[in-house]
Parts: sequence; C-alpha cells; structure tokens
Amino acid sequence: MSGRLTVVGLGPGDARFLTPEAREALEQAEALYGYGPYLDRVPSREGQKCNPSGNRVEGTRAQDALAHAASGAHVAMVSGGDPGVFAMAAAVCGEIEEGPEAWRALDVRILPGITAMLAVAARAGAPLGHDFCAISLSDNLKPWDLIERRLDAAAAGGFVIAFYNPISKARPWQLGQAFARLQRHLAAETPVIFGRAVGRDDESIAVTTLDKAAGTPADMATLIIVGSPETRVIARDGRAPLVYTPRMASPVNA
Ligand code: SAH
Repeated sequence: MSGRLTVVGLGPGDARFLTPEAREALEQAEALYGYGPYLDRVPSREGQKCNPSGNRVEGTRAQDALAHAASGAHVAMVSGGDPGVFAMAAAVCGEIEEGPEAWRALDVRILPGITAMLAVAARAGAPLGHDFCAISLSDNLKPWDLIERRLDAAAAGGFVIAFYNPISKARPWQLGQAFARLQRHLAAETPVIFGRAVGRDDESIAVTTLDKAAGTPADMATLIIVGSPETRVIARDGRAPLVYTPRMASPVNA
C-alpha cells in the first residue's frame, strides 16, 4: 500500500469553519500529527493514533509524519487556519526537498482552510476589498530589519497589511515598533482592526486608529489588519462599524 500525507487546514476556530473536504480527510486518516492545541480541536475516532507535538518543532513533526506515511500509512497533519499560510505545508515541502527519495513518491495532498486574515476581515466588513499583503511579525525565522523594509515597502505601495504573529512574551516590543514604522507613511487616523480568537467562544474584534493602535491589547491569538489610505470606516448607531476598502482606487492614489 502506498502512503499518503494530507496536510489539513482546520480554519480559525471551531468545527463550523472546517471544510467538508477537510472533515472527510480527518475521518479517513489512520494517524494524526500536529501542534497539541490544534489536535485537541479534531474529534478523533477509535483506532486513530494522535501524535501531538510542541509548537517549536515543525521540522521534526513533519519528518515524523513523512516517515510514518512512507511506511504505507494514511497520515494527516493538521494546521490552524490554512496550512499554507505561515504553517505546516511549507515545512512538509521543505522536508520532502531535503529528505530521502522515497518521500517524493508519497501521495501528498494539501487541503486549504480559512486563514485568520480572511476570518477577521469578514467580521469587520471588507478591509481586504482592494490590494493587500500579509506579514508575519515574528523575527524568529527572519531578521527584524527585513520586516521593517517590508513594512516600508507595503505601506509605500498602498497595500492593506495583515499582521500574523503580532506579539508574544519573547517578542514584546516588535508590534509597537511596527506601528511606529508605519506612521512614517500612513496618517494617524488610518483604521486598524484587532481580531482575537476569531471563530472561538472568546472571540473579540476592536477597531481603532493607527495612532492609538500601540495601546490596544494584542496577543498571539490576535490578527491585526492595518488599512491603506483608501480604507474607510462606516459608523453605525447601535452596531459595530463597517470597515472597508473600496474596489476602486481613488484618483489621488491611482
Ligand atoms: N496558518 C494560520 C496562521 C498561523 S500563524 C492561518 O492560516 O490562520 C499564527 C497566527 O495566526 C497568530 O499569531 C494570529 O496572528 C493568527 N491567528 C490564528 N488563528 C486566529 C484566530 N482564530 N483569530 C485571530 N488570529 C488568529
């Protein structure tokens, strides 16, 4: 029997966000691999072996799953959100490129999920309605000065910017510095959206402006969207504001 590795996106939160394709793949797998808290979200069935791991061992987790699949098993690797966005699909590809020839013969499938950026955007309105980009603020895998250059380029290019991995105990100052950097290019009143734990019971959304953004609470479960000069906020009585970026660039920016 030839082995199979399916890399499955779980979406941002509870099972409502799982695609039917992902659900089917999880049910069919003989063994599941992934970061412990993500695996906890998957209802495992009898006879299915769960292999949780810590969040800093992506390489060895991918190797373990590939070796298991190469033994002929049907293995699923889970990721929060979409597996291709700052997540396991690239780690698996990296190990296949570096690893034994047999891993290239595996049936590898990558199943998309709703990434945090899209889930947060949908809650707030349509902030990604025009050109946008995504930047991980973690400087664990790239130097901080590269992040700053990308922030400059993204803001100068007029992109709406989504921040993944905005802050952690080990990276306490980077987020404030990123907002300060963006203020070189963007007006103080540029809309900024904080979406925390979207799709889960403790979900929260806050809409603020760039000059106040550094004082708004954030953690590793938060995704932040910084508007472009085009992004607008529609205030509504008794309802949350709608934040959107119009489909058409205004003549001053075009
Ligand atoms: N593969 C994931 C992203 C992994 S990076 C995806 O596609 O969503 C981890 C970062 O994603 C977190 O630091 C946070 O910025 C964001 N994130 C993940 N789940 C989230 C959620 N439910 N609500 C808000 N942000 C989330």
